[in-house]
Amino acid sequence: MATLFISDLHLEAERPDIAKQFFEFLEREACAAEALYILGDLFEAWVGDDDPNAHYLHVKRALRKLTDRGIPVYFMHGNRDFMVGQAFAHETGVEILHDPHRVTMYGQIALLSHGDALCTDDVKYQQIRKMTRDPAWQATMRAKPLGERLQIAAQAREQSRERTSKLDMDIMDVNQDAVKETIREHEVDILLHGHTHRPGMHEVDLGARRARRVVLGDWYTQGSFARWDLRGPRLETIERI
Ligand code: MN
Repeated sequence: MATLFISDLHLEAERPDIAKQFFEFLEREACAAEALYILGDLFEAWVGDDDPNAHYLHVKRALRKLTDRGIPVYFMHGNRDFMVGQAFAHETGVEILHDPHRVTMYGQIALLSHGDALCTDDVKYQQIRKMTRDPAWQATMRAKPLGERLQIAAQAREQSRERTSKLDMDIMDVNQDAVKETIREHEVDILLHGHTHRPGMHEVDLGARRARRVVLGDWYTQGSFARWDLRGPRLETIERI
């Protein structure tokens, strides 16, 4: 048995092909797994659990089907879906995890994270992150009418696109010192995260010892996940037909 990890599907009504492949993944790979971890940005945008978006309703039903079969599903917030709340957890049967989450996986200690907190070179983004993860800010947001929240989310996405298009690619990657500091602080063997859309397996030299960093891929052009069993974690892709 293996545990599976995914992130950065960026599901939205405009991309039904991604959802179709995600549902197939849930039916095939996830159904045979010990557990499924979703490490953020499952959704392209989430303005609140009260959003009646029909596309997201299908996603919630698919997750419910999996948890009803007894497969534990864990969800961590990304920078697009940090407003996912307890109503979503209740509807789908998933358990929401705090970022980062430390867990023992097949004899190794892992730290699971979305990954955006590691991108410390992007100072402006870290400021936005701090603001939007503040419970008071989120409460103010939740109190706004749904239509207004959708408008704000659309604006935020537009501003983010504009800002990141002008940024150096390296600024949007993880900062190596932040990676080392995080691994040291939590005393883990493996750091597993998404967010950067740069799938890969990296060695991290900590001087006294070595650790590993596993980066999940996004789902824009193919299915992408990490499979972790007794042999350790490895990345896999599924072609989109
Ligand atoms: Mn992200």
